[in-house]
Amino acid sequence: MPPEVVFLNGSFVPYEQAVVPVEDRGFLFADAIYEVIRCYGGRFFRLDDHLERLEQSAAALDIPLPYDRARWAALLDELIRRNGVRDGSVYVQVSRGVAPRSHAWPQGLQPTVVAIARPGGTPPAEAVERGVKAITVPDNRWGLCWVKTTGLLPNVLAKQQAARAGAYEALFVRDGLLTEGTSSNVFVVLDGILYTHPLANILPGVTRAVVLDVARQAGLAVREQAIPAVWLERAEEVILSGTNSEVLAVVEIDGRPVGGGRPGPVFARLREGYLARVAAETGAAVEPGPGA
Ligand code: PLP
Repeated sequence: MPPEVVFLNGSFVPYEQAVVPVEDRGFLFADAIYEVIRCYGGRFFRLDDHLERLEQSAAALDIPLPYDRARWAALLDELIRRNGVRDGSVYVQVSRGVAPRSHAWPQGLQPTVVAIARPGGTPPAEAVERGVKAITVPDNRWGLCWVKTTGLLPNVLAKQQAARAGAYEALFVRDGLLTEGTSSNVFVVLDGILYTHPLANILPGVTRAVVLDVARQAGLAVREQAIPAVWLERAEEVILSGTNSEVLAVVEIDGRPVGGGRPGPVFARLREGYLARVAAETGAAVEPGPGA
């Protein structure tokens, strides 16, 4: 049985009418926080601790919480009362809000607040009496970078950091190795060789494959191998690839110019080759654009 009423953005609304826009960032990016709070006999257990953790999570993600603790307590009380829940739990979620899809977020978003009360939540008597089984798994939260998941919060936060620094992209460094961008793959030209991280726990970019193909056909020396981040200091060129980025030259990293601080010759060849593929495969007349 679904709950009767749900709390949504300041109102108590019937369950069926409690809907969130499709461009809510909680849905698109997992750009949201939550708490689950138990109630016993109509009273919340450790409500203040849960609200404190909610505030900490919100502060960490820079999501402004719309209510103070007294207001949260009052509305959650009302929610369980309206649903007749005495022994159960409340699920509270706050997302950054609704905006056209873009990793970095615009100023002034209204967070989306949802709270759902349900009875139950106590472990089955058998589990309490006889105990439960468990398995072990490698702790790779979130280590599946090759999955094009909407669990993009780390990418979102990195892209926002880049935007704040006046940069287009943030490049991830894992164990001292340059892996990829928040929404792009990355290439480095050093001593005339084009390097990119191998297909090992990065997103296998469709554009990356096109760029590699173009590079090989152009006779460039290509190596898919791990790239120490320190190479960036000596890189002749750094190049991004992605569906929206197409092929772009990075001319500055962490305030230091890359190569001559201008798009380089390898970039120009790769971009030109990429656009030639686009034209050949779609029939569209594409402009090479500056630098290509
Ligand atoms: N790497 C990451 C993490 C991405 O999210 C993306 C695209 O969004 C890419 C690389 C580039 O992939 P594609 O060329 O398929 O757009």
